[in-house]
Amino acid sequence: MLNLKDLRIGQGFDVHRFKEGRDMYICGVKIDYKLGLDGHSDADVGIHAIMDAILGAAGLRDIGYYFPDTDEKYKGIDSKKLLSNVLNLIEKDGWKILNIDITIIAQKPKLSPYIEKMKIVLSDILKLDRDRISIKATTTEKLGFTGREEGIAALAVVLLYK
Ligand code: MG
Repeated sequence: MLNLKDLRIGQGFDVHRFKEGRDMYICGVKIDYKLGLDGHSDADVGIHAIMDAILGAAGLRDIGYYFPDTDEKYKGIDSKKLLSNVLNLIEKDGWKILNIDITIIAQKPKLSPYIEKMKIVLSDILKLDRDRISIKATTTEKLGFTGREEGIAALAVVLLYK
């Protein structure tokens, strides 16, 4: 029987700016676009938000603590590997994921064609049924840095249980 005291919620937020000559990965899926996202790793803004939400829920600091962007080891790294490491970390403490809800904030590119594939990829890494993963994409109606097409932001909320 699930004890309500063994539930933990966590939130994550991330931003990466557009950069020419880089690939774009969001939630583990390569997005076909004229620009990529800049960052020390593969700059997967979606996975970064998810990892911070998971770590936050488990009370385990943040991704910068575990995977510093000053460490050459993480240069260009596939964020899917980091997500897998984060899952191992919380599993050591006995936590499991109940569900995840992600919002990707991007004026461009259009992400709806990639949503189902993103769910498949995340479901595989997190060993979580696809119906427990929600991925939404929204614009900011051309307002703010995402609206000016300077970059992409992502929000994630995760519920953990023991
Ligand atoms: Mg990031």
